[in-house]
Formats: sequence, structure tokens, C-alpha cells
Amino acid sequence: MIYLETPEAVKKAEEQARMLAEHVFRPISRKYDKNEHDYPTELDAFAEVRRKGGAGGGKKAPADASAIVNGGNMTGVSSIAQLCWGDVGLMMAMPGSGLGNAAIGAAGTPEQKVKYAGCYAAMAITEPGAGSDSKNISTTATLDGDQWVLNGEKIFVSDGERCSHIVVWATLDKSKGKAAIKSFIVEKGTPGCELVRVEDKLGLRASDTATIRFENCRIDRDCLLGDKPDIAATEEERKKAFGGVMQTFDNTRPMVAAMAIGVARGALDMCEELLSAEGINLDYKKNRMEVSAIEAELYELEADWEAARLLVMNAAWMADNSKPNSTEASMSKAKAGRMCNKVTLACVKLCNSLGYSEENLLEKFARDSKILDIFEGTQQIQQLIIARNVLGKSSADLK
Ligand SMILES: Cc1cc2nc3c(=O)[nH]c(=O)nc-3n(C[C@H](O)[C@H](O)[C@H](O)COP(=O)(O)OP(=O)(O)OC[C@H]3O[C@@H](n4cnc5c(N)ncnc54)[C@H](O)[C@@H]3O)c2cc1C
Repeated sequence: MIYLETPEAVKKAEEQARMLAEHVFRPISRKYDKNEHDYPTELDAFAEVRRKGGAGGGKKAPADASAIVNGGNMTGVSSIAQLCWGDVGLMMAMPGSGLGNAAIGAAGTPEQKVKYAGCYAAMAITEPGAGSDSKNISTTATLDGDQWVLNGEKIFVSDGERCSHIVVWATLDKSKGKAAIKSFIVEKGTPGCELVRVEDKLGLRASDTATIRFENCRIDRDCLLGDKPDIAATEEERKKAFGGVMQTFDNTRPMVAAMAIGVARGALDMCEELLSAEGINLDYKKNRMEVSAIEAELYELEADWEAARLLVMNAAWMADNSKPNSTEASMSKAKAGRMCNKVTLACVKLCNSLGYSEENLLEKFARDSKILDIFEGTQQIQQLIIARNVLGKSSADLK
């Protein structure tokens, strides 16, 4: 039987997140959109909510193999969607849990999970010469005695300015391709790790996005995230090694998709409220012959939103139940990102001048939504991954 209600255990975290979104995020939403680089001090007191329910839940195996688990990932996506109903930039700016935390949760050793439990970790993959094609990174890690030496530049690092740690992708030997790519945990303030600049952006302005340079940056040998630094020799080993690094995305893509669910819900709620004041109300009992064009469009947007939400819940549920979810994680991200872009722009259109004005948040939702179809893999990259998995093709077969 398919049961589509939100599980009881998840509801509590969801309600907490909604309170925060409504009473803390919304009142300061415009303030930090306007003052892009100001630090939202109002959030410090509430960081614990995200630490408990946000990205980084990791995959939780059920004690009884046949038991159904609604664990950290399910709670994470549900809370994130609620927080992003309030403000996606402020949700990302909450101290204590960045995308690097999710990487540590997914790929760290038990010792690393304990050691970095309270940190605020950003994730640095993208470089000037490597975005979607992340296996093409040039940042190097060289072992020198008991230390790794990092050299290279990372761009568009979310939380890069405010984080305490950065999970950095670097190659041990570029000629060995993706087999040689590893993740390293660097503490901010380590000599050789320099913040170069912070970006001015279209949306997501409450969240800082930084360029970080590594110049002979020395870190301890055990800062390598997860497995051993050996470079895999065979094709099979190579696939496995990079698969381990990519495994992080199976957890983080549903989280980013959940951000899109939250932003789109916020836009739909606001749009429906504004239209209601003009006498336009959704009534599912109404004969479809009597439905206006505006109402028909709203029904379509609502259906699109619900389809995306179910994909996100499915991907998170699979992660919680230790089911391989690479395809479903990409499906949720592709659908939710696309849906959010469409819904937020449609809400601006449906409310016309009210939608375009800064008097309410509809124009901001539309600006904030664009990134949700870009980071953690663009729309096109998600579709590529899904196609490869469905057709049984390798990344060399289908580029
Ligand atoms: C606000 C913001 C925050 C970010 N945060 C982070 C972060 O925390 N950490 C991090 O590492 N990165 C981060 N990024 C970077 C982000 O992940 C990249 O921008 C994204 O992966 C795309 O890379 P790119 O910009 O180099 O575009 P490109 O890879 O150059 O792509 C350009 C266009 O070509 C398309 N394309 C590329 N390859 C293919 C293909 N094979 N088939 C079809 N189409 C293709 C893409 O879909 C895209 O439309 C952030 C970016 C922004 C804007």
C-alpha cells in the first residue's frame, strides 16, 4: 500500500521549522536580500534546529533489515522545505550545517564523524575550469611526510566565508583521472587557505558564496575524508573510488530539491493569497467548465508541485532505508528545480505588477529559485545521469 501522509516522527521537526520560517525568516527576508553581505545575527540562536534536521543526516540503516525507516534524510528534506518556505538564503546561512557536513555524514569515517560533529563545513568542488565536469578539477593534493599539501582555486563555495571547515575536492594525480580525486577537510584559518572574494548574486543573497585559494596549504594526513588515498589501478576500482566521492550527492540532491519545494510553496501560497483578495479562489469541487484561465493555471502549478514533492520524499526515504537512490535523487533534483523555476515565474506573471514589485516577496522567490536548478548538478546534468542509469550507459558512452 502506498501511504502518502507525512510520518508522525517527521511532523514535529517540520512544525518547528515552519515556526522558524514564519516568525524569524520572513520578517528579515527582505533585509538580508537588500544587504547582501551582512551576517544575519538573528539566526545564531536557532542554528540547533538545522543541525538536528538539516543536511548531513547520512544514511541510516534499519536495525531490522525488513523495517521501514523514516530517518535523517526524510526529516532533513521535510524541515528544509519548511525553512525555505520562509527564505532559502537564510536557511543556507544558518550556522552549523553546510553541504560539507553532508559530505562528512555520507563519506566520513566514524572517527571523522565524531571529530567534525559540531563544525560548519562548506563544500568546494567547482573551479574556474571545472563546473559540471567535476572530474576535470585541477586542485592538487600531494603527500609530504605526514601532511597533505593543497594547491588550487575553488569558486562559488556556498558558506565559504562564514564556515569553520571546507571539504575540498583535489586530485592526487590528474593523469589518473577520476580515480585520483579525493575529498579533504580543511579547517578555516589554516595557513595557505585564503578567502579571495565574496560574490554579488542574482538571488540567494543572504547566503555567502566565496572564492577560496589554496597555496601550499598543509593539513594533517588524517584530513583525507573517508577511505585510503590509494589510486585505483583497474577500471572497476576507478569506478568504485569516484563512486564513493559522488555518493555524497545521493544525500544532498534531495536536500537541494527540498529547497525548491519550499521556495515554490512559498510563492504559490503568496500568489493564491493575493489572488484570493481579488475573488479568485481554488475550489477543487468546481466544474472544470466553469474554471477561469487563471484558476486552471494554478491547478496545473499545484499538480506540478505535488509531483516534485513526492519524488523528493521518495529519494529521501530510499536514502534512509539504504536503497541505492542515485537515479531517484537526480530525478527529484531535476523535477523540483525545473518546477520551482516555472512556478515562481508563473506566480509573478499571475499577480502582474504586484508580482513584480518589491512590496511582496514574489519577485524574490523567482530570483532565488534559479540557483536551485544549477548547483548540486544542473538540470541538464541530472537528465544525463538519469539517462545513463536508465539506459545502462557509462559516462564515457553518454556525455
Ligand atoms: C550561488 C551558487 C552557489 C554555489 N555553491 C557551490 C558550492 O557550495 N560548492 C561548489 O563546489 N560549487 C558551487 N556552485 C557551483 C555550481 O555547482 C556550478 O555553477 C554548477 O555545477 C555548474 O557549473 P558551471 O557554472 O561551471 O557551468 P558549466 O558546467 O560550464 O555548464 C554551463 C551550461 O552547460 C550545460 N552543460 C554542461 N555540461 C553538459 C553536458 N555534458 N550535457 C548537456 N549540458 C551540459 C550546463 O547544464 C549549463 O547549462 C555554486 C554556484 C552558485 C551560482
